[in-house]
Amino acid sequence: MATLLDGRRLAARIEQQLQAVVAAGLEEAGRPPGLAVLRVGDDPASGVYVANKEKACSRIGIRNLGAHLAATTPATEVQACINRLNADPAVDGILLQLPLPTGLAEGPLLAAIDPDKDADGLHTLNLGRLLKGEPGPRSCTPAGVMALLADAGVELAGRRAVVVGRSILVGQPMALMLQAANATVSVAHSHTTDLAALTRSADVLVVAAGRPRMVGAEHVKPGAVVVDVGIHRLDPDPDEGTGARSRLCGDVRFEEVEPLAAAISPVPGGVGPMTVSMLLVNTVVAWCRRHGLDATPLADLLI
Ligand code: NAP
Repeated sequence: MATLLDGRRLAARIEQQLQAVVAAGLEEAGRPPGLAVLRVGDDPASGVYVANKEKACSRIGIRNLGAHLAATTPATEVQACINRLNADPAVDGILLQLPLPTGLAEGPLLAAIDPDKDADGLHTLNLGRLLKGEPGPRSCTPAGVMALLADAGVELAGRRAVVVGRSILVGQPMALMLQAANATVSVAHSHTTDLAALTRSADVLVVAAGRPRMVGAEHVKPGAVVVDVGIHRLDPDPDEGTGARSRLCGDVRFEEVEPLAAAISPVPGGVGPMTVSMLLVNTVVAWCRRHGLDATPLADLLI
């Protein structure tokens, strides 16, 4: 049986570390870390994500300084709100919750966030810092995958890694992080021919294609480590009758791949909780740096 890459358990341990770092630094810093999650409009899924992030902040002692703007807010006002948060000394991290309402372009607004307060690690400067191996906030989902792999003791140096997906949110920074850990990395995308032949060459396979249950046994080398980043909400099972709840699945057919793999992340409970954890890590590390506090071993999570 494959080892389960249990994101819930690791996220809980990282939260304890964060609580300890915040408690130890509070007196010297004179204020708690502050995270501003900026939500524009009423996308229902975003509402759940934002609530989860806010609950996680309160558990570890991060002050929630977020704002919720109406869907009709003009770009200039969203920008003005970002400018205020950039200038606010109580704010260490800013996250612009995506997707934005139609008509608001995310590019200029993401670029307006102070790179040192970029809790999502998606600012162009921070992607450049990752590329150059310089410290800075890291993209949360791939950083969470790296933490899961490290915690499970997965050796990356000299191993062959394949990333399925090349988005700026996940695939590209994932490939850079695996490469920084000395894996030999290939990136697959929608134009890749014979995907299964490529993915079967992987010792470590990270799937972030956004295609429900796309990857099955035929894509996986026996003994590989498989990380499923995908998350999809499926309609309720009609056999369960009325009142049945919607189900979650990933990009991987877990039941087919789990018997083959050395280790695998589940959906839910794998990468998802790690993404929230790394958002908090980015925020607390930024707070430590701002106040000259020791951020190790948290900073070690940001490869
Ligand atoms: P995205 O922007 O849609 O990118 C998907 C990538 O997969 C693209 O690069 C695309 O190629 C590639 N792709 C699509 N179909 C493919 C195929 N048949 N074969 C090979 N590659 C294929 O998605 P994303 O934002 O990276 O997210 C990926 C998944 O992760 C989604 O399910 C998302 O919900 C999930 N996610 C989860 C978390 C979490 O916390 N668990 C966080 C972020 C995202 P092209 O570039 O050629 O189009």
